[in-house]
Amino acid sequence: MKLASRYTDIAESFAIADRPSPVTQPSLLLFNEAVAKQLSIDIPLTERATLLSGNHINEAVEPIALGYSGHQFGHFSARLGDGRAHFLGAVADDQGLLWDIQLKGSGATPFSRGGDGRCAIGPAVREYIMSEAMHALGVPTTRCLAVVATGETVYRQPPQPGAIVTRVATSHIRVGSFQYLATQGDVAGLKKLADAAIARHYPSITSAGPERYLAFLAAVIDKQIELVVSWMRVGFIHGVMNTDNTLISGETIDYGPCAMMNHFDFDTVFSSIDRQGRYGFGNQPNIANWNCARLAESLMPLINDDDDQAIALLSPLINGFAEKFNHAFTAMWAQKLGLDGHEPQDSELVAQLLALLKEHSLDYTNTFDALTESLIGNAEIPTPLIQWSTLWLQRTTTGSYETMRETNPKLIPRNHIIEKILKDFAESHQSPILSEYLTALQNPYTQSVNESWSHPPLDESGYHTFCGT
Ligand code: AMP
Ligand code: MG
Repeated sequence: MKLASRYTDIAESFAIADRPSPVTQPSLLLFNEAVAKQLSIDIPLTERATLLSGNHINEAVEPIALGYSGHQFGHFSARLGDGRAHFLGAVADDQGLLWDIQLKGSGATPFSRGGDGRCAIGPAVREYIMSEAMHALGVPTTRCLAVVATGETVYRQPPQPGAIVTRVATSHIRVGSFQYLATQGDVAGLKKLADAAIARHYPSITSAGPERYLAFLAAVIDKQIELVVSWMRVGFIHGVMNTDNTLISGETIDYGPCAMMNHFDFDTVFSSIDRQGRYGFGNQPNIANWNCARLAESLMPLINDDDDQAIALLSPLINGFAEKFNHAFTAMWAQKLGLDGHEPQDSELVAQLLALLKEHSLDYTNTFDALTESLIGNAEIPTPLIQWSTLWLQRTTTGSYETMRETNPKLIPRNHIIEKILKDFAESHQSPILSEYLTALQNPYTQSVNESWSHPPLDESGYHTFCGT
């Protein structure tokens, strides 16, 4: 495995050399053969636990912790950074695309701010399962190569076994990375970071000067729109869309308090700390727009020395977010309903459907699955939707079934099943259902082997998620 380091030349404050703190008894819990194959990572079985816990670091590897800022629930922290993660390097996949390899939960760093630098087994396993599920659902996401138990206890409420996740991402450049250098007034570093992000994620941008960074912002906006639309297509609620958890690549990162929506409601919020619903299901587009505005602010010094002129050039892109989003969102609903082209009355058709879903507490995934299968006589249209469906059916064609089948999953990672698996892992470092469940989640658009996995929980009124610390 050849690890290339990519961040050390951006700014001294940006990448700080720091080594993982060894753990007492590393043992491999999960290993992602598919990711290992894609990245040509070939680690002998006997060495996986020591390498993927950070207990042994190859001579060629110089681990670093990355600096970043972040708006957390709207409040700015100038210095967050990798407080419990170590970047080891980047490897190329079979298509030549570079992937960062990062250990998370690998010990305190200069960015820890009093935290223990560790990760509990529950959040580690959640990240593994959720990112695999999202990948199979066709949602852009970081992935996990492995989860290793540390043999140590992390003191959370309640205390839990510790674990280290090996995360892979096409980069760890965040909106907060730009905020970090902008806050320090490091324009040279900012430019290097923007150029590195362009080279890695948007190589088709070849212009120079202000045009280059305007094109960069436009490209990031497009990716964020694509991301949030695909989240909403499958009912995903990220739960902590802080600017430090927003990747420039447009991949989903940070699976701490995420959850899937069961019965449809734009106001759905599960995160225990999101009291205002800032990161609720239906508010995700607004927040993505807000986060892009924070990126735009950070890019100002690269656009013009005069703030007013910089703002005049950046603002149209931020102000154009909503219209672009709505366009993509409308197209998503048209696909979810297999609509034939676009007609002016379609938005009313969708609005009526969503109102009925909410009124009757219908399950988002299962309802769209039933509508899909009803087209070929495999399912009944849910009773509350029968009247509505007469107009819908007039808008479908022979190709509708296929479009809907590719768009509407049958199987999503249900919160209550994930929680059951995490509880098993906290108790015994394994779960009897994990392997079968992961296999099923690999094929979310085809018939599940286990029907009960498609059922929403009987009652989720008290369900809350927590930040994965
Ligand atoms: P997160 O909620 O995981 O996005 O983390 C937000 C910030 O808190 C990041 O700077 C993390 O590195 C830091 N952080 C979270 N948990 C810990 C921990 N256990 N020890 C040190 N830093 C942490
Ligand atoms: Mg984070």
